[in-house]
Amino acid sequence: MADTALMSIPGQIDPVTVPRDITPREDGRVDLIGLPKKRIAELFESAGLDAKAAKLRAKQVFHWLYHRGVTDFEAMTDIAKTMRPWLAERFVIGRPEIVLAQHSSDGTRKWLLKTADDHEFEMVFIPDADRGTLCVSSQVGCTLNCRFCHTGTMRLVRNLTPGEIVGQVMLARDALGEWPKGSMAGLDEDEDEGGYSFDGRLLTNIVMMGMGEPLYNFDNVRDALKLVMDGDGLALSKRRITLSTSGVVPMMAKCGEEIGVNLAVSLHAVSKDVRDEIVPINRKYGLEELLQACADYPGASNARRITFEYVMLKDKNDSDEHARELVRLIKHYKLPAKVNLIPFNPWPGALYECSTPERIRRFSEIVFDAGISAPVRTPRGRDIDAACGQLKTAAKKMSRAELDRLAEEKQAALG
Ligand code: SAH
Ligand code: SF4
Repeated sequence: MADTALMSIPGQIDPVTVPRDITPREDGRVDLIGLPKKRIAELFESAGLDAKAAKLRAKQVFHWLYHRGVTDFEAMTDIAKTMRPWLAERFVIGRPEIVLAQHSSDGTRKWLLKTADDHEFEMVFIPDADRGTLCVSSQVGCTLNCRFCHTGTMRLVRNLTPGEIVGQVMLARDALGEWPKGSMAGLDEDEDEGGYSFDGRLLTNIVMMGMGEPLYNFDNVRDALKLVMDGDGLALSKRRITLSTSGVVPMMAKCGEEIGVNLAVSLHAVSKDVRDEIVPINRKYGLEELLQACADYPGASNARRITFEYVMLKDKNDSDEHARELVRLIKHYKLPAKVNLIPFNPWPGALYECSTPERIRRFSEIVFDAGISAPVRTPRGRDIDAACGQLKTAAKKMSRAELDRLAEEKQAALG
Protein backbone atom coordinates (compact mmCIF):
# COMPACT_ATOMS: atom_id res chain seq x y z
CA MET A 1 0.00 0.00 0.00
CA ALA A 2 1.32 3.42 -0.92
CA ASP A 3 0.81 4.68 2.62
CA THR A 4 3.53 2.58 4.19
CA ALA A 5 6.15 5.11 3.18
CA LEU A 6 4.35 7.74 5.20
CA MET A 7 3.35 5.95 8.34
CA SER A 8 3.72 2.66 10.11
CA ILE A 9 0.54 0.72 10.62
CA PRO A 10 0.96 -1.68 13.53
CA GLY A 11 -2.68 -2.71 13.42
CA GLN A 12 -5.43 -2.09 10.96
CA ILE A 13 -7.58 -0.32 13.45
CA ASP A 14 -5.27 2.00 15.27
CA PRO A 15 -2.50 3.12 13.01
CA VAL A 16 0.13 5.19 14.75
CA THR A 17 0.99 8.01 12.46
CA VAL A 18 4.55 8.89 11.70
CA PRO A 19 4.02 12.21 10.05
CA ARG A 20 6.12 13.20 7.13
CA ASP A 21 8.62 15.92 7.90
CA ILE A 22 7.69 19.39 6.86
CA THR A 23 9.80 20.63 4.00
CA PRO A 24 11.91 23.51 5.37
CA ARG A 25 11.61 26.87 3.65
CA GLU A 26 14.04 27.32 0.79
CA ASP A 27 15.00 30.82 1.89
CA GLY A 28 16.02 29.55 5.35
CA ARG A 29 13.72 31.97 7.18
CA VAL A 30 11.66 30.73 10.11
CA ASP A 31 7.89 31.07 10.26
CA LEU A 32 6.93 32.59 13.61
CA ILE A 33 3.29 31.52 13.47
CA GLY A 34 2.70 28.56 15.73
CA LEU A 35 5.61 29.26 18.08
CA PRO A 36 5.10 30.13 21.74
CA LYS A 37 6.41 33.48 23.00
CA LYS A 38 9.31 31.79 24.77
CA ARG A 39 10.47 30.08 21.61
CA ILE A 40 10.28 33.36 19.68
CA ALA A 41 12.51 34.96 22.34
CA GLU A 42 15.01 32.10 22.03
CA LEU A 43 15.14 32.53 18.27
CA PHE A 44 15.68 36.27 18.61
CA GLU A 45 18.46 35.60 21.06
CA SER A 46 20.22 33.08 18.87
CA ALA A 47 19.93 35.57 16.00
CA GLY A 48 22.00 38.04 18.05
CA LEU A 49 19.82 40.01 20.46
CA ASP A 50 20.77 40.04 24.12
CA ALA A 51 18.44 38.09 26.40
CA LYS A 52 16.54 41.09 27.73
CA ALA A 53 15.98 42.65 24.32
CA ALA A 54 14.96 39.29 22.87
CA LYS A 55 12.34 38.85 25.56
CA LEU A 56 10.91 42.33 25.07
CA ARG A 57 10.85 42.04 21.27
CA ALA A 58 9.22 38.62 21.51
CA LYS A 59 6.47 40.09 23.67
CA GLN A 60 5.88 42.92 21.20
CA VAL A 61 6.00 40.68 18.13
CA PHE A 62 3.69 38.13 19.75
CA HIS A 63 1.14 40.84 20.41
CA TRP A 64 1.28 42.05 16.80
CA LEU A 65 1.01 38.53 15.45
CA TYR A 66 -1.84 37.18 17.51
CA HIS A 67 -3.64 40.21 18.86
CA ARG A 68 -3.41 42.44 15.81
CA GLY A 69 -3.05 39.87 13.08
CA VAL A 70 -0.36 41.74 11.16
CA THR A 71 1.36 39.86 8.38
CA ASP A 72 4.18 42.32 7.76
CA PHE A 73 6.94 43.36 10.16
CA GLU A 74 6.71 46.89 8.73
CA ALA A 75 3.32 47.26 10.42
CA MET A 76 4.83 46.75 13.88
CA THR A 77 4.98 50.44 14.67
CA ASP A 78 6.41 50.20 18.18
CA ILE A 79 9.43 48.31 16.90
CA ALA A 80 12.31 50.50 15.70
CA LYS A 81 12.31 51.13 11.94
CA THR A 82 15.81 49.67 11.64
CA MET A 83 14.80 46.52 13.50
CA ARG A 84 11.97 45.63 11.13
CA PRO A 85 14.16 44.66 8.12
CA TRP A 86 16.34 42.67 10.54
CA LEU A 87 13.26 40.64 11.46
CA ALA A 88 12.07 40.31 7.86
CA GLU A 89 15.44 38.90 6.77
CA ARG A 90 15.23 36.10 9.31
CA PHE A 91 11.58 35.42 9.89
CA VAL A 92 8.26 35.21 8.10
CA ILE A 93 4.65 35.53 9.23
CA GLY A 94 2.93 32.66 7.50
CA ARG A 95 -0.65 31.95 6.64
CA PRO A 96 -1.98 28.87 4.91
CA GLU A 97 -2.53 29.72 1.25
CA ILE A 98 -6.13 30.02 0.06
CA VAL A 99 -6.79 27.85 -2.98
CA LEU A 100 -10.53 28.39 -3.10
CA ALA A 101 -13.04 30.36 -1.04
CA GLN A 102 -16.74 29.55 -1.21
CA HIS A 103 -19.68 31.40 0.28
CA SER A 104 -22.97 29.57 0.80
CA SER A 105 -26.36 31.24 0.45
CA ASP A 106 -26.94 30.53 4.18
CA GLY A 107 -23.77 32.41 5.19
CA THR A 108 -21.58 29.34 5.64
CA ARG A 109 -18.12 29.84 4.22
CA LYS A 110 -15.63 27.24 3.20
CA TRP A 111 -11.99 27.59 2.31
CA LEU A 112 -9.77 25.11 0.57
CA LEU A 113 -6.31 25.80 1.95
CA LYS A 114 -2.82 24.68 1.05
CA THR A 115 0.29 24.13 3.16
CA ALA A 116 3.63 25.56 2.02
CA ASP A 117 4.55 22.06 0.79
CA ASP A 118 1.38 21.82 -1.31
CA HIS A 119 -1.05 19.72 0.71
CA GLU A 120 -4.68 20.74 0.61
CA PHE A 121 -7.02 20.86 3.59
CA GLU A 122 -10.20 22.68 4.46
CA MET A 123 -11.77 25.02 6.96
CA VAL A 124 -15.42 25.98 7.39
CA PHE A 125 -17.08 28.94 9.09
CA ILE A 126 -20.69 28.58 10.24
CA PRO A 127 -22.46 31.74 11.40
CA ASP A 128 -25.49 31.48 13.68
CA ALA A 129 -27.65 34.08 15.34
CA ASP A 130 -25.70 34.02 18.60
CA ARG A 131 -22.30 32.69 17.55
CA GLY A 132 -19.89 32.08 14.73
CA THR A 133 -18.16 28.72 14.69
CA LEU A 134 -14.96 27.92 12.88
CA CYS A 135 -14.42 24.27 12.04
CA VAL A 136 -10.66 23.64 12.04
CA SER A 137 -8.66 20.75 10.55
CA SER A 138 -5.92 18.93 12.45
CA GLN A 139 -4.52 16.64 9.76
CA VAL A 140 -4.38 16.40 6.00
CA GLY A 141 -6.59 13.35 5.54
CA CYS A 142 -7.18 10.86 8.38
CA THR A 143 -5.78 7.46 9.30
CA LEU A 144 -9.13 6.30 10.62
CA ASN A 145 -11.73 4.95 8.28
CA CYS A 146 -15.13 5.86 9.61
CA ARG A 147 -17.36 4.49 6.95
CA PHE A 148 -19.72 7.42 6.58
CA CYS A 149 -16.97 10.05 6.51
CA HIS A 150 -15.54 11.45 3.34
CA THR A 151 -12.26 12.41 5.00
CA GLY A 152 -11.94 8.74 5.89
CA THR A 153 -11.60 7.94 2.19
CA MET A 154 -8.45 10.04 1.98
CA ARG A 155 -4.99 8.90 2.91
CA LEU A 156 -3.27 10.61 5.78
CA VAL A 157 -0.72 12.85 4.17
CA ARG A 158 0.62 14.44 7.30
CA ASN A 159 -0.19 16.10 10.59
CA LEU A 160 -0.76 19.82 10.43
CA THR A 161 1.77 21.88 12.37
CA PRO A 162 0.76 24.19 15.25
CA GLY A 163 1.27 27.09 12.81
CA GLU A 164 -1.02 25.54 10.22
CA ILE A 165 -3.68 24.90 12.86
CA VAL A 166 -3.61 28.32 14.53
CA GLY A 167 -3.08 29.78 11.05
CA GLN A 168 -6.62 28.70 10.14
CA VAL A 169 -8.03 30.79 12.96
CA MET A 170 -5.91 33.74 11.89
CA LEU A 171 -6.92 33.36 8.27
CA ALA A 172 -10.57 33.33 9.30
CA ARG A 173 -10.05 36.53 11.27
CA ASP A 174 -8.36 38.04 8.20
CA ALA A 175 -11.28 37.05 5.99
CA LEU A 176 -13.93 38.17 8.45
CA GLY A 177 -12.13 41.46 9.12
CA GLU A 178 -11.97 40.76 12.82
CA TRP A 179 -8.58 42.07 13.87
CA PRO A 180 -8.59 45.13 16.10
CA LYS A 181 -7.97 48.27 14.15
CA GLY A 182 -5.81 51.25 15.05
CA SER A 183 -2.42 51.65 16.58
CA MET A 184 -1.40 49.89 19.73
CA ALA A 185 1.44 52.23 20.64
CA GLY A 186 0.67 54.65 23.43
CA LEU A 187 -2.79 53.30 24.14
CA ASP A 188 -3.71 51.82 27.44
CA GLU A 189 -5.59 48.52 27.47
CA ASP A 190 -9.05 50.08 27.75
CA GLU A 191 -8.54 52.35 24.81
CA ASP A 192 -6.94 49.50 22.99
CA GLU A 193 -10.03 47.36 23.46
CA GLY A 194 -12.08 50.20 22.04
CA GLY A 195 -10.18 49.78 18.80
CA TYR A 196 -11.66 46.37 18.16
CA SER A 197 -13.98 46.03 15.24
CA PHE A 198 -15.61 42.69 15.81
CA ASP A 199 -18.62 43.18 13.57
CA GLY A 200 -20.79 41.59 16.22
CA ARG A 201 -18.03 39.10 17.08
CA LEU A 202 -18.31 36.88 14.09
CA LEU A 203 -15.83 34.21 15.13
CA THR A 204 -16.75 33.25 18.69
CA ASN A 205 -16.28 29.48 18.79
CA ILE A 206 -13.85 26.91 17.49
CA VAL A 207 -14.52 23.24 16.89
CA MET A 208 -11.74 20.80 16.05
CA MET A 209 -14.05 18.94 13.70
CA GLY A 210 -12.41 19.45 10.34
CA MET A 211 -10.21 16.92 8.60
CA GLY A 212 -8.32 14.52 10.81
CA GLU A 213 -8.34 13.02 14.28
CA PRO A 214 -7.04 15.72 16.64
CA LEU A 215 -5.99 13.26 19.35
CA TYR A 216 -3.67 11.55 16.83
CA ASN A 217 -1.90 14.89 16.44
CA PHE A 218 -2.05 15.76 20.11
CA ASP A 219 1.08 17.88 20.62
CA ASN A 220 0.48 20.12 17.63
CA VAL A 221 -3.21 20.56 18.43
CA ARG A 222 -2.37 21.36 22.06
CA ASP A 223 0.32 23.89 21.10
CA ALA A 224 -1.99 25.56 18.58
CA LEU A 225 -4.92 25.75 21.01
CA LYS A 226 -2.65 27.21 23.69
CA LEU A 227 -1.97 30.08 21.29
CA VAL A 228 -5.67 30.43 20.56
CA MET A 229 -6.40 30.60 24.31
CA ASP A 230 -3.45 32.86 25.24
CA GLY A 231 -4.78 36.06 26.80
CA ASP A 232 -2.06 38.07 25.02
CA GLY A 233 -2.92 36.41 21.76
CA LEU A 234 -6.17 35.35 20.17
CA ALA A 235 -7.67 35.15 23.67
CA LEU A 236 -10.53 32.75 23.03
CA SER A 237 -11.86 31.09 26.16
CA LYS A 238 -11.45 27.32 26.51
CA ARG A 239 -15.19 27.22 27.05
CA ARG A 240 -15.66 28.29 23.45
CA ILE A 241 -13.43 25.58 22.03
CA THR A 242 -14.55 22.00 21.43
CA LEU A 243 -12.33 19.14 20.42
CA SER A 244 -14.01 16.23 18.69
CA THR A 245 -12.56 12.74 18.85
CA SER A 246 -13.65 9.48 17.31
CA GLY A 247 -12.63 7.88 20.63
CA VAL A 248 -8.86 7.75 21.12
CA VAL A 249 -9.37 6.67 24.71
CA PRO A 250 -5.74 6.79 25.97
CA MET A 251 -5.44 10.45 24.98
CA MET A 252 -8.70 11.73 26.42
CA ALA A 253 -7.62 12.43 30.01
CA LYS A 254 -4.46 14.12 28.73
CA CYS A 255 -6.63 16.29 26.51
CA GLY A 256 -8.67 17.44 29.48
CA GLU A 257 -5.61 18.02 31.64
CA GLU A 258 -3.31 19.70 29.15
CA ILE A 259 -5.74 21.54 26.90
CA GLY A 260 -8.88 21.78 29.02
CA VAL A 261 -11.29 22.41 26.18
CA ASN A 262 -14.80 21.00 25.81
CA LEU A 263 -15.00 17.45 24.56
CA ALA A 264 -17.15 16.04 21.79
CA VAL A 265 -17.17 12.33 21.08
CA SER A 266 -18.21 10.85 17.76
CA LEU A 267 -20.33 8.08 19.23
CA HIS A 268 -22.65 7.30 16.30
CA ALA A 269 -23.66 3.87 17.60
CA VAL A 270 -24.62 2.19 20.87
CA SER A 271 -23.73 -1.42 20.19
CA LYS A 272 -20.40 -3.06 19.51
CA ASP A 273 -21.31 -4.51 16.14
CA VAL A 274 -22.66 -1.29 14.65
CA ARG A 275 -19.90 0.91 16.06
CA ASP A 276 -17.22 -1.59 14.99
CA GLU A 277 -18.57 -1.23 11.48
CA ILE A 278 -19.03 2.51 11.18
CA VAL A 279 -16.33 3.81 13.56
CA PRO A 280 -13.63 1.11 13.26
CA ILE A 281 -11.45 2.53 16.07
CA ASN A 282 -14.15 0.93 18.27
CA ARG A 283 -12.51 -2.44 17.60
CA LYS A 284 -9.49 -1.11 19.48
CA TYR A 285 -11.18 1.00 22.17
CA GLY A 286 -14.65 -0.33 22.87
CA LEU A 287 -17.78 1.45 24.03
CA GLU A 288 -17.34 0.68 27.75
CA GLU A 289 -13.80 2.04 27.80
CA LEU A 290 -14.87 5.07 25.80
CA LEU A 291 -17.82 5.92 28.02
CA GLN A 292 -15.73 5.41 31.16
CA ALA A 293 -13.12 7.83 29.74
CA CYS A 294 -15.97 10.30 29.17
CA ALA A 295 -17.14 9.87 32.77
CA ASP A 296 -13.56 10.57 33.90
CA TYR A 297 -12.98 13.52 31.54
CA PRO A 298 -11.36 16.31 33.55
CA GLY A 299 -13.57 19.37 33.76
CA ALA A 300 -16.79 17.77 32.55
CA SER A 301 -19.79 18.84 34.61
CA ASN A 302 -23.42 19.76 34.16
CA ALA A 303 -22.23 23.22 33.20
CA ARG A 304 -19.69 21.82 30.75
CA ARG A 305 -21.28 18.81 29.17
CA ILE A 306 -19.70 16.30 26.85
CA THR A 307 -21.28 16.35 23.42
CA PHE A 308 -22.06 13.04 21.81
CA GLU A 309 -22.20 13.33 18.06
CA TYR A 310 -24.57 10.91 16.45
CA VAL A 311 -24.84 10.79 12.69
CA MET A 312 -28.26 9.58 11.58
CA LEU A 313 -27.89 6.64 9.19
CA LYS A 314 -30.98 5.06 7.75
CA ASP A 315 -31.71 1.57 9.13
CA LYS A 316 -28.27 1.43 10.72
CA ASN A 317 -28.31 3.30 14.03
CA ASP A 318 -31.62 5.20 14.05
CA SER A 319 -34.28 2.97 15.63
CA ASP A 320 -36.28 3.64 18.81
CA GLU A 321 -34.27 0.88 20.50
CA HIS A 322 -31.02 2.60 19.58
CA ALA A 323 -32.33 5.85 21.09
CA ARG A 324 -33.35 4.09 24.30
CA GLU A 325 -30.01 2.33 24.54
CA LEU A 326 -28.28 5.68 24.11
CA VAL A 327 -30.26 7.05 27.04
CA ARG A 328 -29.49 3.99 29.12
CA LEU A 329 -25.75 4.24 28.49
CA ILE A 330 -25.63 7.96 29.32
CA LYS A 331 -27.50 7.34 32.57
CA HIS A 332 -25.53 4.23 33.44
CA TYR A 333 -22.23 6.10 33.21
CA LYS A 334 -23.81 9.18 34.86
CA LEU A 335 -22.52 11.33 32.04
CA PRO A 336 -23.11 15.07 31.94
CA ALA A 337 -24.02 14.78 28.28
CA LYS A 338 -25.84 16.33 25.43
CA VAL A 339 -26.43 14.66 22.12
CA ASN A 340 -26.03 16.27 18.71
CA LEU A 341 -28.04 14.48 16.06
CA ILE A 342 -26.38 15.05 12.71
CA PRO A 343 -28.30 14.26 9.54
CA PHE A 344 -25.90 12.22 7.42
CA ASN A 345 -24.44 14.32 4.65
CA PRO A 346 -24.16 12.02 1.64
CA TRP A 347 -21.21 12.06 -0.73
CA PRO A 348 -20.60 10.26 -4.02
CA GLY A 349 -19.93 6.59 -3.33
CA ALA A 350 -21.15 6.64 0.29
CA LEU A 351 -22.58 3.35 1.54
CA TYR A 352 -25.30 4.94 3.67
CA GLU A 353 -28.37 7.09 3.40
CA CYS A 354 -29.62 9.71 5.80
CA SER A 355 -32.49 8.73 8.09
CA THR A 356 -35.88 10.25 7.27
CA PRO A 357 -36.78 13.52 8.99
CA GLU A 358 -39.60 11.73 10.88
CA ARG A 359 -37.17 9.08 12.16
CA ILE A 360 -34.69 11.72 13.29
CA ARG A 361 -37.48 13.65 15.04
CA ARG A 362 -38.67 10.53 16.84
CA PHE A 363 -35.14 9.60 17.90
CA SER A 364 -34.63 13.11 19.22
CA GLU A 365 -37.93 12.99 21.15
CA ILE A 366 -37.00 9.77 22.93
CA VAL A 367 -33.71 11.21 24.10
CA PHE A 368 -35.28 14.56 25.06
CA ASP A 369 -38.05 12.78 26.97
CA ALA A 370 -35.39 11.16 29.12
CA GLY A 371 -34.15 14.62 30.09
CA ILE A 372 -31.14 14.72 27.77
CA SER A 373 -30.79 17.51 25.25
CA ALA A 374 -30.73 16.08 21.72
CA PRO A 375 -31.15 18.79 19.12
CA VAL A 376 -31.02 17.96 15.44
CA ARG A 377 -28.22 19.86 13.80
CA THR A 378 -29.50 21.72 10.77
CA PRO A 379 -27.38 20.92 7.76
CA ARG A 380 -25.49 24.02 6.71
CA GLY A 381 -23.79 25.02 3.53
CA ARG A 382 -25.25 22.15 1.59
CA ASP A 383 -24.88 24.10 -1.65
CA ILE A 384 -21.13 24.28 -1.12
CA ASP A 385 -20.78 20.77 0.33
CA ALA A 386 -19.46 22.18 3.58
CA ALA A 387 -20.37 19.80 6.39
CA CYS A 388 -17.54 19.52 8.87
CA GLY A 389 -15.89 16.14 8.77
CA GLN A 390 -17.03 15.70 5.22
CA LEU A 391 -14.40 18.06 4.03
CA LYS A 392 -13.48 17.15 0.56
CA THR A 393 -11.82 19.11 -2.13
CA ALA A 394 -14.42 20.11 -4.64
CA ALA A 395 -11.73 21.77 -6.72
CA LYS A 396 -9.60 18.71 -7.27
CA LYS A 397 -11.95 16.00 -8.44
CA MET A 398 -10.45 12.57 -8.02
CA SER A 399 -9.96 10.43 -11.05
CA ARG A 400 -12.07 7.29 -11.34
CA ALA A 401 -8.93 5.16 -11.04
CA GLU A 402 -7.95 6.91 -7.83
CA LEU A 403 -11.41 6.39 -6.35
CA ASP A 404 -11.30 2.70 -7.26
CA ARG A 405 -7.88 2.34 -5.69
CA LEU A 406 -9.06 4.01 -2.46
CA ALA A 407 -12.15 1.82 -2.36
CA GLU A 408 -9.91 -1.24 -2.65
CA GLU A 409 -7.55 -0.01 0.04
CA LYS A 410 -10.46 0.71 2.33
CA GLN A 411 -12.00 -2.67 1.77
CA ALA A 412 -8.65 -4.31 2.52
CA ALA A 413 -8.20 -2.26 5.69
CA LEU A 414 -11.64 -3.16 6.95
CA GLY A 415 -11.02 -6.83 6.27
N1 SAH B 1 -11.95 12.97 13.67
C1 SAH B 1 -12.76 13.64 14.62
C2 SAH B 1 -13.12 15.06 14.21
C3 SAH B 1 -13.46 15.28 12.76
S1 SAH B 1 -14.97 14.54 12.20
C4 SAH B 1 -14.00 12.84 14.92
O1 SAH B 1 -14.25 11.86 14.22
O2 SAH B 1 -14.70 13.18 15.87
C5 SAH B 1 -16.20 15.68 12.82
C6 SAH B 1 -17.61 15.12 12.90
O3 SAH B 1 -18.22 15.05 11.60
C7 SAH B 1 -17.64 13.72 13.44
O4 SAH B 1 -18.64 13.57 14.41
C8 SAH B 1 -17.94 12.93 12.22
O5 SAH B 1 -18.46 11.72 12.58
C9 SAH B 1 -18.90 13.83 11.47
N2 SAH B 1 -19.08 13.44 10.07
C10 SAH B 1 -18.17 12.90 9.25
N3 SAH B 1 -18.70 12.64 8.04
C11 SAH B 1 -19.99 13.01 8.08
C12 SAH B 1 -21.07 12.99 7.13
N4 SAH B 1 -20.89 12.51 5.91
N5 SAH B 1 -22.27 13.45 7.54
C13 SAH B 1 -22.43 13.93 8.78
N6 SAH B 1 -21.46 13.99 9.70
C14 SAH B 1 -20.24 13.53 9.39
FE1 SF4 C 1 -11.31 10.56 10.67
FE2 SF4 C 1 -13.23 11.76 12.17
FE3 SF4 C 1 -13.68 11.13 9.59
FE4 SF4 C 1 -13.51 9.19 11.41
S1 SF4 C 1 -15.08 10.82 11.31
S2 SF4 C 1 -12.53 9.19 9.36
S3 SF4 C 1 -11.92 9.99 12.74
S4 SF4 C 1 -12.18 12.59 10.34
